[in-house]
Amino acid sequence: MSKPAPLYNRLALIGVGLIGSSIARAAREQGVVRSIVATARTAATRKRIAELGLADQVVETNAAAVEGADLVIVCIPVGASGAVAKEIGPHLAAGATVSDVGSVKGSVIRDMGPHLPKSVHFVPAHPVAGTEYSGPDAGFAELFVNRWCILTPPAGADPKAVEKLAAFWRLLGANVETMAADHHDLVLAITSHLPHLIAYTIVGTADELGEVTKSEVLKFSAGGFRDFTRIAASDPTMWRDVFLANKDAVLEMLGRFNEDVSALTKAIRNGDGNALFEQFTRTRAIRKGIVQIGQDSASPDFGRSHPALPHEPLPKPYASDED
Ligand code: NAP
Repeated sequence: MSKPAPLYNRLALIGVGLIGSSIARAAREQGVVRSIVATARTAATRKRIAELGLADQVVETNAAAVEGADLVIVCIPVGASGAVAKEIGPHLAAGATVSDVGSVKGSVIRDMGPHLPKSVHFVPAHPVAGTEYSGPDAGFAELFVNRWCILTPPAGADPKAVEKLAAFWRLLGANVETMAADHHDLVLAITSHLPHLIAYTIVGTADELGEVTKSEVLKFSAGGFRDFTRIAASDPTMWRDVFLANKDAVLEMLGRFNEDVSALTKAIRNGDGNALFEQFTRTRAIRKGIVQIGQDSASPDFGRSHPALPHEPLPKPYASDED
């Protein structure tokens, strides 16, 4: 069956790490855009993008990348999105759609919005998909398949532009949902941001206990701890920005979490086996529900093993298992 005509003529990718390079690979594979122009902050990454053949053109500046593009996707840590919007604003083509992939949406809208001209369509997005790796080598075309991409168009956004971007993500394999930015940030605070905070904490605590546990922490890491270490290896820049940008929602969820930890602490102290059993039974059912709706599988890597993905340590200590 022949592929449909490309949706966009020229896709500009600003930032080509795990997410940007996965978009490039998937968009190419699916023929969703006619051409791709890409840029990254450092010369080393721009060189790597060219070596990997991820774009038709690799340019040195963000301003040059967006010239003549009808779709611009900013794929960088959320804390840097305002400065980049300021840089590209004057160079955007009228009628272009400007989007992003940031894990927090309210701050991105606040930071980017004021710098974008009225003549463009601003449709922020968050593909809820990731691995514990980063950088242009880590991406793969199937990353978004059967995962959610959440669009958070600001009030007054052009429905046609929103629907076109939704169609783009569907062609990349994602399921698309639209919601308000603050609702997104609240939901992701509990489903993604808090779990990362817990992983960072528990691995840090274990490290501080190093004297007591010696190398036994690593030796017996299969006992639950190993999964936390994978998440806690997530990219420090990306996650620093997420917590700073989604402060209120994370603090709200952290407050509730602390209350629940206190309740479990009390149950353990009081020898209240029923309370523990009830809680663990409830959470087991939630896990089953996630598998049933196809958002995970019983296999350890969600069946996503990819020949191009190195499984042994990458050159940089990257990572994030976002979302
Ligand atoms: P990544 O692999 O680390 O790539 C980040 C890219 O952003 C690189 O091209 C990097 O350029 C560039 N960059 C870094 N700091 C910058 C700055 N201050 N100004 C301009 N460019 C900068 O990151 P990623 O995992 O693709 O994440 C990108 C975005 O996607 C983040 O906003 C994150 O919240 C979101 N997200 C991530 C995941 C996940 O699981 N990783 C999932 C969904 C959404 P250089 O290489 O040249 O430094």
